[in-house]
Amino acid sequence: MSLERVEELIAERKEVYLEKLFLILRQKSISAQNVGIRECAHLVQDMFTECGIQSEIYQTRGLPIVYGEISRPENTFTLLIYGHYDVQPPEPLEKWLSDPFEPTIREGRIYARGAGDNKGQFMAHLLAIRSYIDVYGHLPINVKFIIEGEEEMGSPNLPLFVEEHRELLKADLVYTADGSSHESGAQSILLGVRGMLYVEMTAKGAEWDNHSGNKGNIVPNPAWKLIDLLKTMRNDQGQVLIEGFYDQILPPSEIDKKIMREIPYDLNEVKEKIGYPNLEMDSETYQHKLMFEPTFNICGFNSGYTGPGVKTIIPSTATVKIDIRLVPDQDPDYIYQCIQQHISKHAPDIQLSEQLYSVPSSRTSPDLECVRLVAEAVEASTGRKPVIQPSLGGSLPDYIWTKILGLPSINAPYANFDQGNHSPNENIKVENFFNGIKSTCHVIHKFSEK
Ligand SMILES: [Zn+2]
Repeated sequence: MSLERVEELIAERKEVYLEKLFLILRQKSISAQNVGIRECAHLVQDMFTECGIQSEIYQTRGLPIVYGEISRPENTFTLLIYGHYDVQPPEPLEKWLSDPFEPTIREGRIYARGAGDNKGQFMAHLLAIRSYIDVYGHLPINVKFIIEGEEEMGSPNLPLFVEEHRELLKADLVYTADGSSHESGAQSILLGVRGMLYVEMTAKGAEWDNHSGNKGNIVPNPAWKLIDLLKTMRNDQGQVLIEGFYDQILPPSEIDKKIMREIPYDLNEVKEKIGYPNLEMDSETYQHKLMFEPTFNICGFNSGYTGPGVKTIIPSTATVKIDIRLVPDQDPDYIYQCIQQHISKHAPDIQLSEQLYSVPSSRTSPDLECVRLVAEAVEASTGRKPVIQPSLGGSLPDYIWTKILGLPSINAPYANFDQGNHSPNENIKVENFFNGIKSTCHVIHKFSEK
């Protein structure tokens, strides 16, 4: 069976499908401000119904999750698709060239809040299913959907929902289209994320700030205390000296190394993008550092007087904020304990906060057949080989799929690299939206041949 007829149908329905997307883009759904959320959840449910998908809205402690399912007893494969219907606040409004909630096409791009992040991408899945069914009468695999309304707030209620609905969410693969294509223009296939642990450490000196002359050498300075502690935590080569920090790290596999070598890399472009022209780094080191090495980063250091001019004090407190990016299989709780032990050994009077944020890393092996099938599906629909990445440098709660559900999880973002998500004039290229619809059709088709 070929997908030619499905692709023709998608092309014929261009205007209709754009209007379907516009309908959902016009509906505000700003989770941070709780604006339009419930209305949007119902609209998503209507879209499901139109596409022949059974659905239900689940209330959580926060904002609702829309669940959808389309299945037949004879199908043997189940795909679980994840997406989100909430969007970022549109501000600053004056920077938008057109109303963020009135989708407008200019030069081949659809401009609207949520166009790329993530309405344009999950709508591509829905319209793919509709197109496929209208040609073939049914889907050859089962598809389940979780479209949540709190992604832009960090998905606070998603882990519990998934834990409590394991049976409902039983599947063979989690598939997501969220984020952007590779900067080379090729589609990305992302197989994981780094985790993160965020903590704060506070040193205290005297009860108040003292005169640095009249009390100099008498009153201890907590800023130095904190610096001394930090120096025991990391050496000048960037190595973390906290006992146990590297215990759980897994090295990249041969196939990880192979796909990392295939990721396009342009040092000059990187320099420009980060605003640091002195960077000297080859591709292999760059990819390895981003995907397979943890970080120990000072996000902020606060102590004493930092305003203009001169003020001479011995500060009474010093605080440092640290974010630690974690790689497989570093456990945030274990790393936190290591830090606790390190502090109690080296500077027991320095206070360690609770874990201010913590999310484990997540990986799906590039060896799996499902990765190859998705890569083939993407190539078939875009005509271009995708860039496969073992991991993002950043952190997302992908562990929900790989660790709570124990499933492989693949993110193949459909939006263009310059979608401007979270920024004014967010957009998705019309071409990317329709390639996305085709990509989902090809993914469904590929897994039916399994
Ligand atoms: Zn977003």
